[in-house]
This record gives sequence, C-alpha cells and structure tokens, in this order.
Amino acid sequence: MIKINISNINKLETDYFDGVESLVRLKLITPKSKRLFVTNNLKRIILAKNNEFECIIKETKNIDKRQLELAFIGSQKEEETKSGSSNGYKKFIIKSNKHYDAYNLAKELNLNVCPYCNRNYTFTIKSVTNKATRPEFDHFLCKKEHPIFALSLYNLIPSCHICNSVIKGQSQFNYNTHIHPYFDDFNKIKKFNTDKKLLSLITKKDEFNIVLKDRQNISKNDKLKADNHVKDFVLETLYNSHKDKVLELVDFSRAYNKDALDNIVNEFKESTKIFKDTNEIKRLLLGHHIENENIDKRPLNKLIKDISEELGLI
Ligand SMILES: [Zn+2]
Repeated sequence: MIKINISNINKLETDYFDGVESLVRLKLITPKSKRLFVTNNLKRIILAKNNEFECIIKETKNIDKRQLELAFIGSQKEEETKSGSSNGYKKFIIKSNKHYDAYNLAKELNLNVCPYCNRNYTFTIKSVTNKATRPEFDHFLCKKEHPIFALSLYNLIPSCHICNSVIKGQSQFNYNTHIHPYFDDFNKIKKFNTDKKLLSLITKKDEFNIVLKDRQNISKNDKLKADNHVKDFVLETLYNSHKDKVLELVDFSRAYNKDALDNIVNEFKESTKIFKDTNEIKRLLLGHHIENENIDKRPLNKLIKDISEELGLI
C-alpha cells in the first residue's frame, strides 16, 4: 500500500550482502557444478529484483529444492536453531550481536509503519535490557516454493504481524500479479473514498462504506496488482473498522473552513510564528502528514490524506 523508499540504496545493498553472505551454507549444494553456479551467482541471487527473480528460477530449476532449503533457510532441527548452530534465514532471524541479523536490516530500513497495510507501527527497538521489537519479514515469493530467495533483500518485506502471519501466510504472490512495496506505488494507483457524500451524513457509522477507487489513467497491469493487493490483504474490510477517523474528518471540515484556518495563522503570525502556513495547522489538527512523500510515517496516513482531499480540507 505504501512504497518503501530507501535513501541510500547502494549502502543498504552492500551492507546487506556483506552481512548475509556467510549465512548461506553453500557446501550443502551438490554436485560441484551446481554449487559453483550458486556460488558465482550468490550476489545476483541475494540482490535480485523484478525480472531477475524469474531468470534465476529458470536457471536453478535443476538444483535439488531440499538442498537449496538447507543452504538458504537452514535445518528444521529445533536444537540447531536453539543452539545458534543453524544457518540461512533461520540464523538471520535470531537476535545476535555476533552476526548480521534481521534487526540490522530492520534498523537500516528504518520503516516505522507496515507498507502492506499502513495500519500498524513496525518500529525497530532494542532496549537496554535487550528486550527488542522489529517488523516481521514477509517472503514476497513464498520461501517454501522458492527457498533460494529466502535471504534475498527484495524478497523480504518488513511488515506487521497481521499482514505477514495472520493474513498473507503462504499465499502465492508474484511481482506480476501483486503490488511489490519496493517497486510499485499503490498510492499512485488507488485512492480511499466513500460510497456516500460525506458532508450529507449525520454522524452514523453504518451510513457509508470506505472503498478504494482507481485513480485516473492507470495501466491494466497496475490495476490488476492493486486489486489483488486490496483483495488479498482484505483492506476494505479492515479499513471499514476505521470509520470513526473519517467521521472526525467530517466534523473537522465542518468546524474549520479556509477563513478559520487563515485566522489561526494570522493570530500567531506576529508573536510566536508557530505556524508557517495553513498546511502546518492542518497537519497539527489532522495529526497526520498531508504530503505524499510522508504518508509512510504514521498509521492510517493514506486514509486521512485521501479522505481529507475528498472533503476539500487539503
Ligand atoms: Zn500490515
């Protein structure tokens, strides 16, 4: 739903590859010729994007899937995971000060809200007592089907527990059929709206529904991907539990017209200069960002922004 923007992609890729390279247990792949192929293409596999995934799937289809599973995901044996002697993705998700782990990646991504739903915070925090929290990492291409991408940077989508574990699970996603938060911008394809004229409502929750409508001039493929995203993450159903937010915006738009906002700016103009312009007041009163580039900063920000536009607030 919200595109992931990375400020320094070269640094991220370098740090990530250097960090996880040693977690892959290449010696488990036989015969030697196949092992050599994976070894020589390891960087390509770990940093694969878009069409590269498809190419690599074709090029490695003759390699035993079980071997790839052991090399890239790690052993299923409980004791190995517990003792830390595991490898691959299983080792990556163990919190450690000795090797590069999921906390390192989450920290570097610095993504505070789930990009799949824009509903839940996904802060990465390690406290002094070593209690910690981080986003879960969803395998966009299911790791059971494609173990070779278990540690691929762009196959790991930082996300909330509800989107990753409760809703998506092991669903079959593909970058041709679903929104990929690293490469697609859902916000440019769909917009929140309501199926009734909001200002005609007397504040009753059951009088309207929140829907996601297509923006104009979108491609067929973008529409297909966004429709699948809405359906598979049950977004309209989930968002209809946030009608109270929409009703607050209706009240807001009734209470504050342009004159009222201009008056607030003018009132503080001479003395404190708290507000630079009416946009700053709107941000404060709405409690959310009103710029597209900032809608990843707070939960529900896309809903608030789109509905505010519908109401003519911004
Ligand atoms: Zn989510």
